[in-house]
Amino acid sequence: MNTSTESVNFVEPQNSSHSADTASLTPSSSSDILVGEADDSSESRAPIPCTLKSVENLLSITKATNHDDLQEMISKCKQMVLESAECSEERKWLVRRLIELRLRAQELRETTNANTVETCVILGHHFAPQKYYIATSGSVYCDHCSSGIWTMLQSWYMCNDCGFCCHMKCMTSICRVCVHVIASEAGGYTYTKDICPERGLSAQAYRCAECNTRITFTVSKGFVLSCFGSPLKYSESGWVEPRLCDYSGLYYCQKCHWNSLSVVPARIIRNWDMEPKKVCRAAHQLLTLLQDKPVLLLEQLNRKLFSLIPDLSLVKRLREELHMMKQYLVVCPEAKNQGLPWKSGLRTHMLEGFDNYSVKDLIDLHNGILLDEIQTAYDAMKVHIIDTCELCKARGHHCEICGNDEIIYPWDTTVTTCQLCATVYHRLCRSKRNHCCPKCLRIQERQSKHVVNPSE
Ligand SMILES: [Zn+2]
Ligand SMILES: [Zn+2]
Ligand SMILES: [Zn+2]
Ligand SMILES: [Zn+2]
Ligand SMILES: [Zn+2]
Ligand SMILES: [Zn+2]
Repeated sequence: MNTSTESVNFVEPQNSSHSADTASLTPSSSSDILVGEADDSSESRAPIPCTLKSVENLLSITKATNHDDLQEMISKCKQMVLESAECSEERKWLVRRLIELRLRAQELRETTNANTVETCVILGHHFAPQKYYIATSGSVYCDHCSSGIWTMLQSWYMCNDCGFCCHMKCMTSICRVCVHVIASEAGGYTYTKDICPERGLSAQAYRCAECNTRITFTVSKGFVLSCFGSPLKYSESGWVEPRLCDYSGLYYCQKCHWNSLSVVPARIIRNWDMEPKKVCRAAHQLLTLLQDKPVLLLEQLNRKLFSLIPDLSLVKRLREELHMMKQYLVVCPEAKNQGLPWKSGLRTHMLEGFDNYSVKDLIDLHNGILLDEIQTAYDAMKVHIIDTCELCKARGHHCEICGNDEIIYPWDTTVTTCQLCATVYHRLCRSKRNHCCPKCLRIQERQSKHVVNPSE
């Protein structure tokens, strides 16, 4: 990496020995969220000679869970290598398995040492050692050096709070503070409400916003624009192409920005834009962490959305009606037996507030999932109250203005509720009475009598 001449050498010595060579493994184009160079399987892929079929089980790496088992397998395997015919397929297979078993034994020792600490807290992360035989879906990449983790062979750690993964060897040099800490420090979970608040590379002194690596755009092949304005000879490994994070508006190096895609809350709030954008790793972890937290007070943030998006105003109305139904269900023992209203299949915060939404709610509203969910819960609750449950039905109202014996409920569209005493009337009946509430009038009369004659 020190091939550059004269003033070109802006490259800082890498703080860890492995980071320089892994840089080349990091993706540089948009479609390549890390090309997997890791092969998770540690057991030999080569077909096992049929003469060895019976011993395969005896030497199975995944079966060796402790040191003693492994040592026993290693000596057994060694013996079989010696007994096998020279240059035979059997010997080849056995030698390979012997190497794998030894590697595993070494790794097991390392992890055992590491396990004595169990979880370690670094920069707010709660790192838990991961087991070899953990069933991982897909490949795992190190959030520090961005190269693959051989989960079957290497010791690695994952943060219990934010999902940050890293090699054991990388753990001491990480620089990203746990996003769980950042999210909770900001006084409850909050988001940046500005769309990509970009200030430019120079404001960052041409350094990655997270790890301080020098970054700049290449002007043309072989040249980079230096911070002094004159083109400098491009040092092949010295400069890193910056990547803009759509969430923070800052530039990052390729190790801290993997071109991961996330829906950006500010874009939803301002423009109802659900298009996933490229964000840095830290933002990706933060957005994933907060995705289903109902922290967006949408009406406060952008009231206009409710008139522009018909489904949104519909959800708002349904939530208000659900709230009224909830008042019935929470005091009904029958509903409690059925788990209503909480077990109606609805995300619970929908019943707990009026204006709080999570990013996931809004994405699901956009793709139709949320409305279906609300409608199903709405129907289940309504059927209970007005149809199947005698107790709830008995708590319905009669309009005292018209004296009709029809049972009415606060959420009926033809009905209005007095804000003061919560009595329910037909909308039409009440408007005929000049919107006065007969019950409130009676209460007022009684109170004025008290004032006139306080001794009563
Ligand atoms: Zn963490
Ligand atoms: Zn690493
Ligand atoms: Zn970086
Ligand atoms: Zn009931
Ligand atoms: Zn009426
Ligand atoms: Zn009233």
